[in-house]
Amino acid sequence: MKKGTDNNAINRRAFLRRAVDVAACTGFALGAGLGPVREFLSGSGARGGCAFGDEKKNADGKEAGYYDKRDDGEVKCNLCFRECLLPLDTLGTCRVRINRGGVLYSLVHGRAGAQQIDPIEKEPVFHMLPGSTIFCTGTAGCNFRCKFCHNWEMSQRKAQEVSSTDRAPADVVANALKNKCRSVSFTYNEPVVFIEYMCEIASAAREKGLGVVVHSNGAISSEPLGDVISLASAFTIDLKAFTEKFYKDVCAARLRSVLESLEQIRKSEVHLEIVNLVIPTLNDNIADVKKMCAWIVGTLGKDVPLHFNRFGPAYKLKNLPMTPVKTLDACHDAARGAGLEFVYVGNCPGHKANSTHCPKCGAKAIERNHFEVKSVKIKDGKCESCGHAIPGVWRL
Ligand code: SF4
Ligand code: SF4
Repeated sequence: MKKGTDNNAINRRAFLRRAVDVAACTGFALGAGLGPVREFLSGSGARGGCAFGDEKKNADGKEAGYYDKRDDGEVKCNLCFRECLLPLDTLGTCRVRINRGGVLYSLVHGRAGAQQIDPIEKEPVFHMLPGSTIFCTGTAGCNFRCKFCHNWEMSQRKAQEVSSTDRAPADVVANALKNKCRSVSFTYNEPVVFIEYMCEIASAAREKGLGVVVHSNGAISSEPLGDVISLASAFTIDLKAFTEKFYKDVCAARLRSVLESLEQIRKSEVHLEIVNLVIPTLNDNIADVKKMCAWIVGTLGKDVPLHFNRFGPAYKLKNLPMTPVKTLDACHDAARGAGLEFVYVGNCPGHKANSTHCPKCGAKAIERNHFEVKSVKIKDGKCESCGHAIPGVWRL
């Protein structure tokens, strides 16, 4: 473990810079006004390379799960829809799982590329322990290639190219407890690619009474998803668009596997919220938005919270403007018109759809401004005004 990185206090400017660097997967990082958040720790090595010892550790890695060995020394990873066939000494598409000697290794186990304390609303999770803080962990790597990724410096790099810190699962949980977080979270890059690390942290967290939040692109195969479901308190799944064309052209990925994961999660008891980042000209066609909402209502249910997040220019899409508020309003109205009960507009501080309204009586059940919770009028999971049940994780 590197010395001098634990609990280092940093100044406000450094905090804001870091907060922007590691904004959640679909978020447009605003940095300021995040409420009761403290920067915690981060890797101290120079970006773009690790010290020799770190490279050796990354090269060794830890044996991964969810793969088959082949007679010719190849391995087949079964973790996500890509089902990579890896010849000896090659990486999977996610860049952090490697075939060494016919064995698949994770190169990011215990290697945190970012850790930070955030309000749970930033995930976003709006129906779980409102106003609490989460201890977030991310690593290098991702199985998608989103052109709008805010965290591409982590997600689109190899393990040895990301400044990382040794952080054993028990240490992550101890730090979450020490900093009075109610939950741990996996975010910033795609947690599926560090599933072994995620599950060990999640397991240790549950033993200590913490909640577990998983923010994922949803592209995970059924068996590993079942293992994650057994440990999770809540999922936030990015439903980036409702066409295979968008997934192919903008993310180099596949919609079908995300829809299957959403169905599997919904069939479990675990709380689910969905995020759609609305990108001008790419996925803001209102007919497609209506199709997506109709599918959510018909397949998952009308009480799944849906967040429409505002896009901001980033990475390979710096040519596009921020999403106009009127577009977000149109998406919001389409979702409500389709019957969805909890529809939010994110990355738009002060928007009326930052708050939770009771679908029965219309009372403001949780008042928010951006990530800040102003009031909670939910008691025992029910609207204080009319007693209507509001789905969510209101206690652990
Ligand atoms: S997790 Fe990585 S190695 Fe495994 S199938 Fe997906 S992209 Fe390939
Ligand atoms: S899925 Fe991967 S590439 Fe896409 S936004 Fe999330 S971290 Fe970035």
